[in-house]
Amino acid sequence: MPAAKKAPRFEKTSMKSMLSSWAEQFSLWSNCSIQGDNRSIIRIPLRAKHPCTSYCYAFVTIQYVRELYHTPFLTLVAQASRVHEANHTYNDIQRCTLLSVKTGGCPEDCAYCPQAARYHTGVKAEKLMRTPEVLEAARNAKANGATRFCMGAAWREVRDGRDFDEVLEMVRGVTDLGLEACATLGMLTESQAQRLKEAGLYAYNHNLDTSRNFYSEIIHTRDYDDRLNTIQHVRDAGITVCCGGIVGMGETDEDRIQFLLTLASLDPQPESVPINALVAVPGTPLGEREQIDAFSFVRTIACARILMPKAKVRLSAGRLSLSEEAQTLAFLAGANSIFLGDKLLTTPNPEPDADYRLFEKLGLEPSAMTTVEHSA
Ligand code: SF4
Repeated sequence: MPAAKKAPRFEKTSMKSMLSSWAEQFSLWSNCSIQGDNRSIIRIPLRAKHPCTSYCYAFVTIQYVRELYHTPFLTLVAQASRVHEANHTYNDIQRCTLLSVKTGGCPEDCAYCPQAARYHTGVKAEKLMRTPEVLEAARNAKANGATRFCMGAAWREVRDGRDFDEVLEMVRGVTDLGLEACATLGMLTESQAQRLKEAGLYAYNHNLDTSRNFYSEIIHTRDYDDRLNTIQHVRDAGITVCCGGIVGMGETDEDRIQFLLTLASLDPQPESVPINALVAVPGTPLGEREQIDAFSFVRTIACARILMPKAKVRLSAGRLSLSEEAQTLAFLAGANSIFLGDKLLTTPNPEPDADYRLFEKLGLEPSAMTTVEHSA
């Protein structure tokens, strides 16, 4: 009888390493158990070379997210860093630009927002910008290294008509420049989401802001489910979802935990997760809030990275109050995008030169255009 052919050594090694990598990833979730009513099933994207599929269902409970959030800081950052490395390229940080195309005069009452008409913040209501002006800004952003261009309008919701038609024109123009066009315009109907998709919109930003529980202390003019409905319309239209929140508004750790669980439970998970630190603007109800400490901020970033391994986690508002070292820690914990420009809508942001210097010090590379960001 002919001797059985010995399997090539590399196959054995390869299978062994694949299984151990799977086991290692699985152990990340092994302390999950289904308990109580707060359980949630989320789809955890595993390493790209998973032995059978790139996705696995895991049960993630509120208890699990709680334990994760309260993990000793260095252990948490190290764990987030491993997840980051398995799913992204270190040193690859996307640069984005956010332009306020319609500033101020908003009828909503978001307690953190200087653009709400009811607060006296010195932000003047302006008309919607015209498309050529916006495209000029988009061209500049591209020349400065941005690959994503976001347009924000201080509206409660989109209204069909001349202004929306102009926004569609902006989206077409930004897309034609070869940039990822993103918009944040307030609540959307299904048909408006569809029209934005047809115009070429790549991403729509609509933040959950915080936990469902704390949300009612921050916003009274629309509710959490309105937010979730708009996100669903965006998803149904085939536009990628950009959804995150703001920390440092006076929420508890438990609110952050609930917020992270809700975000991670969106199915599919958001492709883009902006994490903002509150910029306390005088004249708003949160104008006197103390700045969140950098460790709590980085802790939130690290949890977002672990719970949403494939997402772009974006360091957004509040970067001006973070030292270079704190921003570096956030990159290590999985943040992989920043917003360029000295303003984020109406709040201050680091000068571009400061960002270029930090990129140079860290040897960071601005990331190339993303062509496919959709989760399966
Ligand atoms: S966050 Fe948006 S919806 Fe809320 S007040 Fe500001 S502009 Fe209006």
